[in-house]
Amino acid sequence: MAKQAAPVKKNQTVTLQFEDLTHEGSGVGKINGYPLFVPYALPGEEGEVKVVKVNKNFGFGKLIKVTKSSEERVEPPCDVYYQCGGCQLQHMSYELQLEMKQNQVRNAMRKVAHLEDVPVHSIIRMDDPWRYRNKVQMPVGEKEDGELKTGFYQKRSHRIIDGMETCNIQDEVNDRMVEAVRRIADRLGIPSYDEDKDTGVLRHIVVRTGEVTKDTMIVIITRTSDLPHQDAMVKELIKTYPHIKSIVHNINDRKTNSIWGKQSKAIWGEDYIYDTIGDIQFAISAKSFYQVNPPQTKKLYDKALEYARIGSDDTVVDAYCGIGTISLFLAQEAKKVYGVEVVPEAVDDAWKNAGLNGFTNAEFYVGEAEKVMPWWTAQGLRPDVVVVDPPRKGCDEELLKAMLGMEPKRIVYVSCNPSTLARDLRILEDGGYATQEVQPVDMFPQTHHVEAVCWLERK
Ligand code: SAH
Repeated sequence: MAKQAAPVKKNQTVTLQFEDLTHEGSGVGKINGYPLFVPYALPGEEGEVKVVKVNKNFGFGKLIKVTKSSEERVEPPCDVYYQCGGCQLQHMSYELQLEMKQNQVRNAMRKVAHLEDVPVHSIIRMDDPWRYRNKVQMPVGEKEDGELKTGFYQKRSHRIIDGMETCNIQDEVNDRMVEAVRRIADRLGIPSYDEDKDTGVLRHIVVRTGEVTKDTMIVIITRTSDLPHQDAMVKELIKTYPHIKSIVHNINDRKTNSIWGKQSKAIWGEDYIYDTIGDIQFAISAKSFYQVNPPQTKKLYDKALEYARIGSDDTVVDAYCGIGTISLFLAQEAKKVYGVEVVPEAVDDAWKNAGLNGFTNAEFYVGEAEKVMPWWTAQGLRPDVVVVDPPRKGCDEELLKAMLGMEPKRIVYVSCNPSTLARDLRILEDGGYATQEVQPVDMFPQTHHVEAVCWLERK
């Protein structure tokens, strides 16, 4: 039997009852069983929706009017929330955000990993789910009169939002530093980069501030190999803001969507700043990954350490180790920790961090974890515990194979994407491991991103 055509047409206006939420936090309402995904609609609500896209099995709509509102709907504190793509959940109560994330992890366990009974604990919440981000990467453009402007891109575009004065999930210091650099650069007459023409100078301003130390690093990213008026810029910044400990110039001369270029150099101060998590101090350089939500990071790492149940004789591998954050948490208890990470600057930081904290039982390697781990196995390394913390795309298949080949008694999997986590858990389960517990952690309030840490034992 031929499949029925969609019961709606593009540009048609329909009334929808919303029942559910997608991973991105859009409301889901159905017409004769045909689902429409509608940003900013909440379950339990009724709304008028304009159909904007019709696919074979589902479509997308734009919320025109809420005709019956949910008690979970809240007024977003951000003035540009509906233009900006950065946050997706500000119109939801924090309770509903947490419930949505919890369900997402639970559903991934059931539907993707086929683990019906694995305990998924209540998500670890943030006491104050605002102003948590320690790092901002802000595009620079120009107003019509030529004045420099900064702001995030509008959703699905590279047009900078007008009049964005603050970001409510960002540390206020970072907000102020972006504005300071913008103001000084504007006064010195440094032009912004023009994406269409691939001309001009200033592309992005990146600011990272340590949660505990309050040290700030500023990175100025330009198309050109020199930063015009560099000395004047540096002088004014350090005179006015003594918490700035590092100013880095990064050159990105390619016509590309990527923010960062290959070359970075400190134009003032060290090429790293310090921060502290728990009892451990970390040096962090410009290009190194460092978790963006410090208070929640501590809770995440504590959980990872608890799940790893390290004995004093244990050897541990930390794959995708970044600047050695989890590695050094583990090194507090293990006999020996081996970290592997693909960004060379991060591995330099990891070595520095081991030294800084007096750890002599941690070693770090530059390379792709999927290549280095089989090599370690060939060298005879048999870790007791393996910890992995991959990017959103999850673990490479080669890496999962290598990990199974190492036959650790325990695996701890830290993930920022429940779908790839669940996909990889299935492979590990089939390879002889049993998932014991899953703990979601809310690392990114107001956004749809979900973090979770998982504990597996060899069957
Ligand atoms: N565990 C660290 C970093 C986690 S983020 C922390 O919590 O701070 C993931 C890290 O994996 C990033 O540092 C990224 O550079 C690195 N990475 C990405 N692909 C990789 C690969 N194939 N092999 C090794 N590291 C990789």
